[in-house]
Amino acid sequence: MRVRFAPSPTGALHIGGARTALYNWLAARHDGGTLVLRIEDTDRERSTPENVEQILDALRWLDLDWDEGPIFQTDRQDRHVEVIERLLADGHAYRSTATADDVKAYKERHGHDRGFRGESEDGGAVRLRVPDQGATVVRDVVRGETAFQHVHLDDPVIARADGTPLYNLAVAVDDLDAGITHVVRGDDHYSNTPKQLLVLEALGATQPVYCHLPLLHGPDGKKLSKRHGAASVQELRDAGFLPEAVRNYLALLGWGAADDETILSTEELVRQFTLERVQRNPARFDEKKLRWMNGQYIRALGVDDLTARLEAFTGREGLRGAVEISREKIQTLADFWPLAGTIFDGPRDDDAKAREQWLTGEGRAALAAARDALAPLDDFGVDQVDLALRGVVDTLGVKPKQVFQPLRVALTGTTISPGIFEMIALLGRDETLRRIDAALA
Ligand code: GLU
Repeated sequence: MRVRFAPSPTGALHIGGARTALYNWLAARHDGGTLVLRIEDTDRERSTPENVEQILDALRWLDLDWDEGPIFQTDRQDRHVEVIERLLADGHAYRSTATADDVKAYKERHGHDRGFRGESEDGGAVRLRVPDQGATVVRDVVRGETAFQHVHLDDPVIARADGTPLYNLAVAVDDLDAGITHVVRGDDHYSNTPKQLLVLEALGATQPVYCHLPLLHGPDGKKLSKRHGAASVQELRDAGFLPEAVRNYLALLGWGAADDETILSTEELVRQFTLERVQRNPARFDEKKLRWMNGQYIRALGVDDLTARLEAFTGREGLRGAVEISREKIQTLADFWPLAGTIFDGPRDDDAKAREQWLTGEGRAALAAARDALAPLDDFGVDQVDLALRGVVDTLGVKPKQVFQPLRVALTGTTISPGIFEMIALLGRDETLRRIDAALA
């Protein structure tokens, strides 16, 4: 099996593109085949080196490696021109100076667009001669077999009058030269397939197997876009998702997994993956489910590994202790700092409501009592802190919350934090008492 991923570098790698890359990668790895990376950069204005780098970067982040390439489509223009010359020479293609309007008008009158064949030797756009009889049959793993009757097909334009090869010609020639056996791509390219097949047939090539992946939709059933949350791989990374969770979730999307909440290691995905399992109906990308899955992956990581990732993500060091007491409460890497950042940066000062509610009246009195219970402890371990504070709750005869919330607000400036006992133990005696005293001052 030889497959290819062929992104156009006109922007970031979107989630749909990442799913296409992943499916090609899984198919190749499952089969012991070869994945070719081809950069379709023929739109010279929008294809920038930065966009290429961004796409390669996204693939590397997802840990999707390729075996050949990147091949740049623009580097292959001479070859495309050579093929066009050959098709002209052997009569599979012809030149025509007719404009698009001419062709349209002709077609309205005659029901087909073939009246311009053989009327111009030089000059004009190059068009492929569709055979008059028969049909081009697309064999697609997802959609089955579809016959496109030649009488209904227009002669596709394969080069502009100035000689520049057009897209469908370039794709067909590149697939042929790379020996591609399976074309796995988004369903938005399905309508190009007969044109590409006609080029391949004219060149006497055997047709590859096609697998057009159903487009991704959001949970509301509409085409996936920005309004459903992160739209690109970069945005998923910045939102704190782990590449292995993204791979797992994307693999199950639109694939016949019994449900989309199954945790499967990459080895297991490779083992189970086949193109035949791709479902025909559009798949729904639900960021909430991805968050859930990401949380599962975060909890499955060792503390050292998670710490290293969080240190890289936040650009801070010395996070291990805070990671240990936060890992049960976060679903993404981005959830960590809002939860635990106050351990390092000190209490926040932007939550006046929390201070008003918990650091006045009875709250203040409870905080003072908690300080008195904590100060004499000679061991500031979690168990001792727990015992001492529950003692305060009993003595005051209040709900636990009425002691713990004032403490939380004193230590963090807000009501959001990791477990209170764990946090106090981590801060240690000096820092804990210092923060309480500042709150009582
Ligand atoms: N370059 C096309 C895209 O990015 C893909 C073409 C193909 O896979 O044949 O949508």
